[in-house]
Amino acid sequence: MTLLRHTPKETTVEREALTINPAKTCQPVGAMYAALGIHRCLPHSHGSQGCCAYHRSAIIRHTKEPVAAGTSSFTEGSSVFGGQSNLLTAIQNMFSVYDPDIIAVHSTCLSETIGDDLKQIIEKAKSEGKVPEGKQLIYCNTPSYVGSHVTGYSNMVFGMVRGLAKSTGVKNGKVNIIPGFCEPSDMAEIARLAQVMGVDGNVFPNTHGVLNAPLTGQHQMYPEGGAKLADIAASGDAIGTIGLGEWATGQAAKHLDSENKVPCNILGLPFGLEATDDYIMALSEMTGKTVPAAIDFERGQLVDMMSDYSQYFYGKRVALAGDPDQLIGLTKFLVELDMIPAYLVSGTPGNKFERAIRQITKDVPAEIKVKCPGDMFHLHQWIKQEPVDLLIGNTYLKYVSRDEDIPLIRHGFPIVDRMGHTMFPTVGYKGALRLMEKMLEAILGRRDRDDTETKFELVY
Ligand code: SF4
Repeated sequence: MTLLRHTPKETTVEREALTINPAKTCQPVGAMYAALGIHRCLPHSHGSQGCCAYHRSAIIRHTKEPVAAGTSSFTEGSSVFGGQSNLLTAIQNMFSVYDPDIIAVHSTCLSETIGDDLKQIIEKAKSEGKVPEGKQLIYCNTPSYVGSHVTGYSNMVFGMVRGLAKSTGVKNGKVNIIPGFCEPSDMAEIARLAQVMGVDGNVFPNTHGVLNAPLTGQHQMYPEGGAKLADIAASGDAIGTIGLGEWATGQAAKHLDSENKVPCNILGLPFGLEATDDYIMALSEMTGKTVPAAIDFERGQLVDMMSDYSQYFYGKRVALAGDPDQLIGLTKFLVELDMIPAYLVSGTPGNKFERAIRQITKDVPAEIKVKCPGDMFHLHQWIKQEPVDLLIGNTYLKYVSRDEDIPLIRHGFPIVDRMGHTMFPTVGYKGALRLMEKMLEAILGRRDRDDTETKFELVY
């Protein structure tokens, strides 16, 4: 807090190797999150206990749900000689003690640095009979000194289709729908929209019902939710794949396209009007289904609210920090509302991000600053140079919010000091309404607080 208060306004040195207040978390966090989107899956972290504890606690603090995961518990010996024997023993123990249907193994900085060959260890585990009949074992590499939690999520989703997807040669009429890194509530909404469209959607991973499960009074090691193994296996026979977020889903969607001959259409995460339209139209084009009146109704409600309240959003300057897929979607929506997405930083690398933002904001009559990879220190400095009306990002932005007295809309990962994100979606038409509601509350709440008595109005 004190450090942030001393954030200098001007940038005197262009930092290259140093990140301050990163706008990302580590790769295995994303891999573990994706793995939890499979029904009866036990994620496993191949590294030290400390890493696994961090990955679990990051997800637990965000979702306020219990998260079980295994660890290879590296000690000095395994750090020097490799963790193969630890992982082989762990796989055997986890299947026999906890009875998951699948174990999803990801690596860590340590196991990657010493050069453990996960592919070889996984094959050895299978050939030595450590995977019981009918059970599955998948893996992905997640060296966290590159990328972010989004890269890890993408790698694990890729691991799912590489390890599980099968092609029988007979199409099953389903559409694979791969949500990008988003909330359990968003995954549920993405699935619901497909259902309303009358599309047989195969949504995976799907953390709905796993990381927003109800309290029943009884401990359930594996909650009811999550994508079923049989459905992920059937992804190889789908008529098409829709990936929602290039960073998080492109790898898996393209693999299904090239290996299983399932054509893919990679879109953005459906935040706001146009991006949701794109998702609906992709479902329609892939299946030949017409858009039902129920979807028109939801869309119409959003358009109505946008026109009724546009005056309060017009020209408002916003600073955003988060994941590229999420920021691209949010930026589109802000532009649809005639707002100014003035500053954007993402901790997940990727040259395409800045190009995408420039394209979306090309007609916005203001300078747009983008940094990728960038951090929240950058964002804070820009805000000090020219303030904004609103912040959108994860909980860590609350320090900037307090320092600069600017309202914060919590969005992205992690959110550790508020509720609602796992229950109420921000994707789709209904999600866009919720985003609008939150932004309007922040903007008009500020006005109610700051207006003089002579300007204070009952009705705006
Ligand atoms: S050491 Fe690497 S894998 Fe482990 S918690 Fe840190 S960044 Fe993540």
